Amino acid sequence: MIPKVRRPKTRRMITLEVRANTAPSPAFRTITLGGPALADFEPAGDDQAVRLFFPRDGQAGLRMPTRDNEGWMAEVLMLPKSRRPWVRNYTIRRARPGEIDIEFALHDGDAPAASWARTARPGDPAGIFDMGVSYLPPPGVAWQLLAGDESAVPAILAILEGARSDLVAEVFLEVPSTADVRDLDPPPGVRVHWLPRDEPGRRPGTLALKTIEAADLPEGRAYTWVAGESALATGVRRHLVRERGWPKPDIAFLGYWRHGRAAPG
Ligand SMILES: Cc1cc2nc3c(=O)[nH]c(=O)nc-3n(C[C@H](O)[C@H](O)[C@H](O)COP(=O)(O)OP(=O)(O)OC[C@H]3O[C@@H](n4cnc5c(N)ncnc54)[C@H](O)[C@@H]3O)c2cc1C
Repeated sequence: MIPKVRRPKTRRMITLEVRANTAPSPAFRTITLGGPALADFEPAGDDQAVRLFFPRDGQAGLRMPTRDNEGWMAEVLMLPKSRRPWVRNYTIRRARPGEIDIEFALHDGDAPAASWARTARPGDPAGIFDMGVSYLPPPGVAWQLLAGDESAVPAILAILEGARSDLVAEVFLEVPSTADVRDLDPPPGVRVHWLPRDEPGRRPGTLALKTIEAADLPEGRAYTWVAGESALATGVRRHLVRERGWPKPDIAFLGYWRHGRAAPG
């Protein structure tokens, strides 16, 4: 399910602090992180993702792994829970000199990352580890299909903000409610279809999948990037390959989260 990823040549464990916590719309929080260690981070744009580390309730501070490689996971798992940080995957929504923004889709339940985003305050510690970029359109495609539920809205908005002015794309963005629809200024060849569920309890991703299955899509070879709830990502890929005959290598599909299952870490 994981597509090809462009990883940074070098990367470090970076400890930052919360600078601001704002709400772009009811179902989202933007957490701004900053600090001197950000000098070690190279913003890559598009859907650049990071491992985000933050303390568990009751911990006095953040204990970051010391290894700047995939050995960090074993290091974290060896720690007793009393000192182990939470780890989740998030996208760099925006990078400015000295600051980055991460946008959290809030969701029901007592989930660590969504709860942390609701309450994080300036000065709280958080850490990041660069995981690279998976939006890698090959040369020669006529247009792009970009789709996701609310967890992938930050990545798709970042992709659109960094896009060339001649990008041709059909973009499907499922969000919890009409109040989460935002004003965008994409390149002229981009058609954005906001899909507000406006139905508490409806499983995220199902509306986007149904809409794409029924959509009248342009002709020509397309690059697809789809992310969100696992059934959305796999469902879109299955539909494009089986019903529309699109080649598998032209489809990047990422299960960002799985209904009913907490992320490991
Ligand atoms: C590469 C990558 C980049 C990502 N970027 C972002 C991002 O920028 N913004 C973002 O909001 N998410 C992003 N995600 C998704 C995010 O990592 C997951 O949603 C994560 O599980 C949230 O952690 P949690 O602690 O809130 O919930 P967990 O503890 O992992 O899960 C607890 C419960 O909540 C449910 N759940 C988890 N996420 C959601 C959700 N989005 N909606 C409804 N129910 C959910 C689970 O099914 C589970 O039942 C990304 C994932 C990946 C792999």
